[in-house]
Amino acid sequence: MKIDVLTLFPDMFTPVTRQSMMGRAVEKGIIEIRLTDIRDFSNDRHNRADDYPFGGGGGMVMMADPIFGALEYVGAEGRKLIYMSPKGRLLDEAKIKELAGMESFVILCGHYEGVDQRVLDHWNAEEISIGNYVLTGGELPAMVLIDSVARLVPGVLGNENSALDESLYSGLLEHPQYTQPREYRGMEVPEVLTSGNHRLIYLWKLRRSLEITKERRPGLFEEFVSHRNDLNEDGTKRFAKDERKVIDEVCGKSRP
Ligand code: SAM
Repeated sequence: MKIDVLTLFPDMFTPVTRQSMMGRAVEKGIIEIRLTDIRDFSNDRHNRADDYPFGGGGGMVMMADPIFGALEYVGAEGRKLIYMSPKGRLLDEAKIKELAGMESFVILCGHYEGVDQRVLDHWNAEEISIGNYVLTGGELPAMVLIDSVARLVPGVLGNENSALDESLYSGLLEHPQYTQPREYRGMEVPEVLTSGNHRLIYLWKLRRSLEITKERRPGLFEEFVSHRNDLNEDGTKRFAKDERKVIDEVCGKSRP
């Protein structure tokens, strides 16, 4: 996967792109992250890339010309362009999965009061927000997007299954996790997890996932349980009898 990032602050990305799993994925060539400094495309003798907004108002706006220059330089024509923006649609698992299936895309990071609208119109940019709050720049949002997309790219996580287990991928939040020692300051690991009975462990995890999702994300929970009687493609039931029993118990009542 090849990701081009256009930014006024390329150095901000180094801690994320050089370390941990992302660092290894970049080193192995699974992901290529190319950082382009928009300021390099400024025609101003002071390298300015922003100016006052037409119509007044506080702050500065990033000018179209340096951004056009940077987009043309990275070959953005015909590729997906994402503009990190608090006005965009909220980043969610569906969008992350969609992007993880792409071979390449371009991310534009805004700063100050944002970018000249003509950039977004001309390049047909998709605006994506990471949450209902405003940050000073698009760099941290871009890193959030890259990290969440990259971990779905085969080979980035050590264990291919670990992404599938996690919160949201199955439609539920993840169950609690425990590691050594079995007893810590008087607190025990739930007994079932050390029982060696894989089915009981699986059902315990399912129950805890359901309980946590019901409590913290009622909308997700309702969506999940509304599919509990679904069939697989081969006509078999999606959930086994013992799974449905757990689901019904967490629902608190029998559902049609
Ligand atoms: N004036 C803009 C507005 O009200 O929509 C806010 C500009 S913000 C201070 C500067 C830049 O930070 C934006 O251009 C965008 O790239 C980035 N940004 C800020 N909050 C964001 C968020 N929640 N999600 C994605 N990008 C964000």
